[in-house]
Amino acid sequence: MRIGIIGQGFAGSALAWRAHWAGHELHIFDRGHAHSASWVAAGLVNPLVLKRKRLVHEAHDHITAFTPFYDRVERETGCSMRYPGEIHEVLSDSAAENAWASLGAERGFEPFIGAIHSLIDPRIQASATASVHHSARLRAQTYLTASRAFFAEQHSVHEEAVDFLEYQNGAWRVNDMEDLEVVLLAEGVQAHWTQQYFGELPFAPTKGEGLKIRWEGAEIPVALHKNVFLLPDGDGTYQAGSTYAWEGFDEGPTEKARAEILDKLRGWFNQEVEVLDQWTGVRPTMRDRQPVFGWHSELPGLGYLNGLGSRGALTSPLLSDRLWELHSGRTSQKS
Ligand SMILES: Cc1cc2nc3c(=O)[nH]c(=O)nc-3n(C[C@H](O)[C@H](O)[C@H](O)COP(=O)(O)OP(=O)(O)OC[C@H]3O[C@@H](n4cnc5c(N)ncnc54)[C@H](O)[C@@H]3O)c2cc1C
Repeated sequence: MRIGIIGQGFAGSALAWRAHWAGHELHIFDRGHAHSASWVAAGLVNPLVLKRKRLVHEAHDHITAFTPFYDRVERETGCSMRYPGEIHEVLSDSAAENAWASLGAERGFEPFIGAIHSLIDPRIQASATASVHHSARLRAQTYLTASRAFFAEQHSVHEEAVDFLEYQNGAWRVNDMEDLEVVLLAEGVQAHWTQQYFGELPFAPTKGEGLKIRWEGAEIPVALHKNVFLLPDGDGTYQAGSTYAWEGFDEGPTEKARAEILDKLRGWFNQEVEVLDQWTGVRPTMRDRQPVFGWHSELPGLGYLNGLGSRGALTSPLLSDRLWELHSGRTSQKS
């Protein structure tokens, strides 16, 4: 099949990989990083919502889909896309350690509650850390860049905005590209075409800000969390963040977010840090925090995937598979 994909963030990339593996011809359209939440994502793949001590919806299924998906992308591109090690939760005292251990006894949590470790660095003001089993960190920009280069070589990538999309004479036209049998919309938060064809989506987007920081002294080897994430990039610098805000989407980086991240970090990490960079992005979150995807009931071959919220790296492998499965179900029903 000739397939057009609009958007190459986590959603569009995962859909493209699935289509490539199924042997289809791809034409990918993306208007650039400035509009992409995936491009600024920290890449955390975490089956737990650490702040609320909750499981991510369908955590087990997402984790099961995640590993073989990125293993295969790494093999195909020849790029290593995951940082080593699991995420560690910082536990401030023995009460927090006991609470962590009891979480392991709760239904569904057991596979993800890792061991409690003695402190890896004396600068962390806490009693211990605990690892989250099956958590990981994707090198988000490496994944997006390597995927784009692969698709540009094997298929076609158009670095342009889609300002024309129509079903004409039994096929789809995207800008000047005609005769597409399937078009997949993976537009993220500015979902112009998705809303044009599928109606208004129940968006409740959240703005996120993150910092790039550095300090003198030994490097911390693992990703840490307590109120805020501290993530080693492996070159002596770290990412810290991110914030959640429900307004100010058009503003750039704010002093307020920078102060919030540094304050939270100072609560458990005893080191003066130098801020090197700050970025913002808008997460495509839905009001009920559930992703949305499906196929148009009347126009043939038009599908969409959106609402990945704060978990696109974790959820896009499984959800892209589900969208394609729905398509096979529909086409086999017709035949
Ligand atoms: C600061 C921050 C930190 C985050 N950290 C994490 C994390 O650690 N782990 C995690 O899993 N998630 C994280 N997220 C969330 C994650 O970024 C999102 O879940 C994910 O990026 C959503 O992917 P998407 O493909 O749906 O949207 P996007 O990444 O926004 O991609 C949509 C793409 O479509 C393109 N597009 C849209 N319309 C058009 C058009 N008409 N023509 C051409 N191109 C178009 C855009 O240019 C864009 O590239 C974070 C988000 C933020 C803001």
